[in-house]
Amino acid sequence: MAATYDPNNIFARILRGEIPCKKVFENEHALAFNDINPQAPTHILVIPKGPYVDMDDFTAKASDAEVAGLFKAVGEVARQAGVVADGYRTLSNCGRDAHQEVPHLHIHIFAGRDLGGMIGRPKA
Ligand code: 5GP
Repeated sequence: MAATYDPNNIFARILRGEIPCKKVFENEHALAFNDINPQAPTHILVIPKGPYVDMDDFTAKASDAEVAGLFKAVGEVARQAGVVADGYRTLSNCGRDAHQEVPHLHIHIFAGRDLGGMIGRPKA
């Protein structure tokens, strides 16, 4: 069963301007800002402006313009951050097994160091 969107999740509050963020990019459909607890020298979150819980919710319900706006933002953010030449990783946690913490779709962009293997070990 699809999760219900919580309009008071932290990223919804950032979108409403109730909580500050270090914005790095914005277009009609997406906002990008620095992660508060960076896991790499560059760690940026790209989120849709619409109310979508996760990648499943977004790809089922968002318009083509919203999907294009989010993914174009990811590429634009990486180019603006200057991380394309050395490489970067995008990641989006969806649901329980992926340990998604914030229930508003977000795409992580990691860069600035060797990012190692693709998937980590299970939490102890
Ligand atoms: P998840 O585990 O859901 O994929 O990742 C959630 C991310 O949101 C984490 O990397 C966490 O550091 C980040 N985060 C949580 N709260 C805030 C906040 O208030 N501001 C910002 N900029 N990032 C946050």
